[in-house]
Amino acid sequence: MAKQRNLYTNSEWEAFSLKVKRRDDFRCMKCGRSPSETVLQVHHQLYVANKKPWEYATSDCITLCRGCHAREHGIIEPNRGWFLLSIVDLGGLDGTCERENCGNGIRYEHYTYHPQWGYKTLGSTCIEHLTQKDRALSGKLLACYCGISKFVHGSKWFEGRTKKQKSYIAAKHGHDYVRIYGTGKKYTFQVLLKVKGMKRYEFGELIRIPGKNLLEAKELAFITLKGMRSNDPQEKEMLRCVYRSAREVT
Ligand SMILES: [Zn+2]
Ligand SMILES: [Zn+2]
Ligand SMILES: [Zn+2]
Repeated sequence: MAKQRNLYTNSEWEAFSLKVKRRDDFRCMKCGRSPSETVLQVHHQLYVANKKPWEYATSDCITLCRGCHAREHGIIEPNRGWFLLSIVDLGGLDGTCERENCGNGIRYEHYTYHPQWGYKTLGSTCIEHLTQKDRALSGKLLACYCGISKFVHGSKWFEGRTKKQKSYIAAKHGHDYVRIYGTGKKYTFQVLLKVKGMKRYEFGELIRIPGKNLLEAKELAFITLKGMRSNDPQEKEMLRCVYRSAREVT
């Protein structure tokens, strides 16, 4: 099975829902079941229009299991006020879009929440009811991942040696390079940025990434290069998150 990884997590929601669950001793407040028996979710007992799901008092919310939670909610799903909580890359079309009348297989699971309705998992093409910001975030993130995979698989990787006879493989991106040194899960990478108007390169620091395979080393090197070249603070922050999540996956 292809491996799953988190592309995005809303940390505010994460922190808020953890507080509620901790207060409720990680048990469903209706049936008393624990995470070993079911999936626990956070339910809003009241709903204020335009409030983000994590902008409530914890006393507005209770912990429920998935089954009890579904029973608490209405049947007609609202088409506004949904929030993007996380995006998970399943690695293949292993998910199912829960959008009404869709049911398509999906690779990028968009986990969304509506205080009045609850949770829904959607594919990247079925997120039109999300806020503009969240839709843009999803688009940017997925484009970023497309770019990474294009670089990793589509680049011409060539072998070389440093002056000290250390061997590496390298690939070019624009005028810049990434180099990967080492073998068998003991890789180190380095970014070489072309100095503008000159025939030389600025050598970035050697970054050790123990436990990562070659493909992962290529990904991490490219994300680092993109981050170093980006001038957009928002994009830089996104790349930092992408790097972190790629680094964490084992
Ligand atoms: Zn329950
Ligand atoms: Zn709920
Ligand atoms: Zn869909």
